[in-house]
Amino acid sequence: MAVDVLSPAAIEVRDNAVYIGGMWLAPHETARIDVVNPATEQRIGSIVDATPEVGKHAFAAARRAFHDWSRTTPEARADYLDALADALERHSEQLAVLATTEIGMPIRESRAVQADLPARVLRSTAEIARSFDWDTRDASGSSIVREPVGVVLGITPWNFPVHQIIAKLAPALAAGCTMVLKPAELTPLNALLLAGLCEEIGLPPGVFNVVTGAGATAGEALLQDGGYDIVSFTGSLTVGRHIGAVAGDRIIRATLELGGKSPAVVLDDADLDAAVRTTVRNCFTNAGQKCNAPTRLIVPERLRTDAVDIAVEAAEAYVLGDPLDEATTMGPLVSGTQRRKVLDHVSAAVTDGARLATGGTASEHERGYFVRPTIVTDLDPAAAIVREEVFGPVLVVLGHDGEDDAVHQANDTAYGLSAEVWSSDEARAAAVARKIRAGQVRVNGVRTPALPVSPFGGYKSSGLGREMGAYALEEFLEIKAILGDPHLT
Ligand code: NAP
Ligand code: MG
Repeated sequence: MAVDVLSPAAIEVRDNAVYIGGMWLAPHETARIDVVNPATEQRIGSIVDATPEVGKHAFAAARRAFHDWSRTTPEARADYLDALADALERHSEQLAVLATTEIGMPIRESRAVQADLPARVLRSTAEIARSFDWDTRDASGSSIVREPVGVVLGITPWNFPVHQIIAKLAPALAAGCTMVLKPAELTPLNALLLAGLCEEIGLPPGVFNVVTGAGATAGEALLQDGGYDIVSFTGSLTVGRHIGAVAGDRIIRATLELGGKSPAVVLDDADLDAAVRTTVRNCFTNAGQKCNAPTRLIVPERLRTDAVDIAVEAAEAYVLGDPLDEATTMGPLVSGTQRRKVLDHVSAAVTDGARLATGGTASEHERGYFVRPTIVTDLDPAAAIVREEVFGPVLVVLGHDGEDDAVHQANDTAYGLSAEVWSSDEARAAAVARKIRAGQVRVNGVRTPALPVSPFGGYKSSGLGREMGAYALEEFLEIKAILGDPHLT
């Protein structure tokens, strides 16, 4: 295949194959789906659109592997996670280049979030597994035992693919579960590379299986098969609702990491310049294709024009281009469909009277699904662009009349994934953070800590459950009470 493989130790990415029970299978009778580089619009490989039979085979392999894997010690499983982290580090440049080639994410961002972050998630999860209270006693003397839920169906999106897979795989494996993964159809190759890394470290066959294909065909078949004990999904609200309904009907647990329309609340005593520039940067990471992107900048009304001017300057400073070029700060959107959706959102807002301060068009690149960084203001709070997830480089700037109104606007959304608060008074910012209905709130632009253990997940329509840290591990555990346990060990 045509993906550049830079490292001499590069491992083969087996496209046109699924990874089941430790074997690469290339079913002949199935349809193929092309994988395209969004910066060049060229085909970089193709994948199997797995049939229901392939899915069944994968669940059977995961079920067989569960028998032994669930009986290994947490320490042994933690050692595998560390070994996988080592493998990610050995092959980090290959992973980052492949991710950039699949998604169009600038290479610097890919190195940080598709290689370095997942390795840190694996290591921190291993540490948590080693010190976790697997077997405790309650006040009555009963034993409380944590046991793995069973076989996991993981379904992941395309925007931060390696991170999103590892955010499920690390805690699932630590818990003693096995997994069948259906990666996004637009970015499946990194999942096949991960399977290659699992093979390289000698992860027992069937513990991690990858079944590729389209959501509507392969994904739906896996979902309906029911050969799993928990489904862990990251993706859109629409698909998440469907997955939750199917799982609920079967009384199967579902964790859902869905979308967001996250606010950045700037209070009147904040450093406006820092708040706006940081919000633009956080909003435009991965060309705005980020579920927790702060897409609604809510500033004091009297400062709104100033805020828009700063945001426009920051937006116009982006360098759009080849995402493999170190100088590029914004790549293309993941697909032509995604670009159309984003541009339609902006033009609908403008038709309804919004002011386009900058951007709002495709860039002049001959190839690639580029959209110019976009700042929109003078908005009706009911406008779709204020309420719906756009998933592109689009920031809306809104005005507030004081702290209460700012909190009201921040919470006036169906979503609740994340939020940001800016104030020079830390106690005030902390109090406002507690009033926002969201799973994660950042104060004054704090970055994700090096130790990625703080829970991530949504209130309201942003989902059910949490990823990262001990909270993620608990999602994959059943709780058993043993009454009258003689406590012999
Ligand atoms: P999506 O369309 O919901 O797809 C997510 C995954 O579900 C993909 O693998 C998709 O396959 C699969 N799928 C689609 N229909 C299915 C079905 N009927 N049965 C089983 N699987 C099915 O989302 P996306 O467009 O890839 O990703 C963007 C969305 O993800 C945004 O809404 C974003 O906010 C959200 N997101 C949330 C988080 C979070 O942690 N909260 C993180 C990242 C992204 P295909 O690839 O073939 O469509
Ligand atoms: Mg999709």
